Formats: sequence, structure tokens, C-alpha cells
Amino acid sequence: MAHHADPGLASMIARDPRHVFHCANLATGILLGCGAGHLLPFAPAAGGAAALQAALTAACVCPRCQWVGANVTRGPARGAVALTFDDGPDPALTPWILATLRAHKARASFFCIGNKARRYPHLIRAIRDSGHSVENHSDRHRHSFAVLHHAVIAREVRTAQQTLTDLAGTAPRFFRAPLGFRNPWLAPVLAECQLRYVSWSRRGFDTVDRRPAHILGRLLTDLRDGDILLLHDGKGACDRRGRPVLHTVLPGLLENVTGRGLAVVDLPTLLA
Ligand SMILES: [Zn+2]
Repeated sequence: MAHHADPGLASMIARDPRHVFHCANLATGILLGCGAGHLLPFAPAAGGAAALQAALTAACVCPRCQWVGANVTRGPARGAVALTFDDGPDPALTPWILATLRAHKARASFFCIGNKARRYPHLIRAIRDSGHSVENHSDRHRHSFAVLHHAVIAREVRTAQQTLTDLAGTAPRFFRAPLGFRNPWLAPVLAECQLRYVSWSRRGFDTVDRRPAHILGRLLTDLRDGDILLLHDGKGACDRRGRPVLHTVLPGLLENVTGRGLAVVDLPTLLA
């Protein structure tokens, strides 16, 4: 990212106006601290930022907005909700999730990280063989994703797409950015890879909240037909007894949703 500090900024912007976005977002990323992780969208806006920077930053850190490209946040009402898991595959949690989904006859989409998929290729095959969909969540899940140079962003998407296609035998159809943060030149890369951008309509904050009842409340209160739910099979929080919160959350979620007469499906099914 050395070019961000290039003193010839004006000439760079003249050559490629997208550099404005690079610089504004780099400054904002430093200001807010991209390492603040999944809580960042709730962080109060830093004062004193220029209007342009504020607008670009909002587009960057607003996971469900449409300002920087098409963004699917929910599906049509067809008697189902889609369940999605980010940040896997994980050798401890993913097999347990697959067994739990099987027991409830539920389907899900797994947004997998490319380098984890190469470490645990058997888990990608297990996800596929269980009838779920494997989707693209970048190659290294860099928290600075939205402020990376566009060539690096393209590499993050393409490398993961190649890895996951090779391992699953079919190409992922959907992409979700690390932390849900995007920028304007992600869309052309997704188009090139025939990927659609998908975020979510409800998320449990299961990576940071240790209270299963609160996670379930976020997912289930006012649940609607066509919702897209976000949980994680990597980096999930543990409850006060040291158990992954998902061990309580997932069975409770599946029983509640199916009890309402809604099917639990993967994204290709909901968005077909
Ligand atoms: Zn993630």
C-alpha cells in the first residue's frame, strides 16, 4: 500500500479517480481501526472527517448498503430462510454443524476462506457431499480488505474462487467480503468471476456475544420469510462454560424456524 503515501497524489488521482477512494478509506481505516472487527459498524462516526471521506467510509463500513455495487440482503418470500456460515471451514465446528443440519434436514451456505479450505480440503468436500453450498469469503480474510489496492482485492477473490472451485467441483456463486466491508472496484471482479454479492438481513454477532439467548433473540425477533441469517463456523464465541455458543444457538434456531413453518435452505435455493 506504499502508493497511498505517494507525494504525487494529485497526478495519481488525475490518472485514476479511484485513488481518491483509496486515500480517503486508508485514512478512515487508520482512524477507526479496521481491527475493531465485527463491532465496527456500530462504532460512532469519527468527528471532523470531510464529507467525501464520510460518504465513502459509510459505503465501506455499511455491510448492507447498495452504494458500492449490487448487494443481496434478503430473498423473496417463498416459505424459507437462508442460513449462512462465515469464516470456515473449521476442523472442530464445521463437522458438528454438518451433523446438526443433517439431523434437522436443514441446508446452509458456507462462505469459506480460501487458505483455510486449502488447509482442510476434506471439510470442503464434506460440506458439498452433505448437500450444502460452498461460497467465497476471500482468500485470506484480511480485515483491511476494503482499503486494499484493487489488484490485491482481485487476487483475494480470484484465488479463493479457484481453490473452492477445485475442491468443491463447482464454482461458488456468491461472495461476501471480510467483515462485510466493500469498495467500488469489488463489483467488476465479482462480475468477472460470475459472483453475486450477498450480505444478510439478520446476524447473531456470535463471534463476540457469549450469551446464546441474546444471539437467538437477534436472529429470531421479527424473523421474516426470505431472511438471510449470518452465523460463523470460524472464530465463534464460547459461553461462560467454555462451550461454543453455536452448540446452543444452532439447535434452538433450527427448531424455532421450522416450528414457524419456514424451511431452512441454502442461498442458491432461496435466490434461485
Ligand atoms: Zn468473515
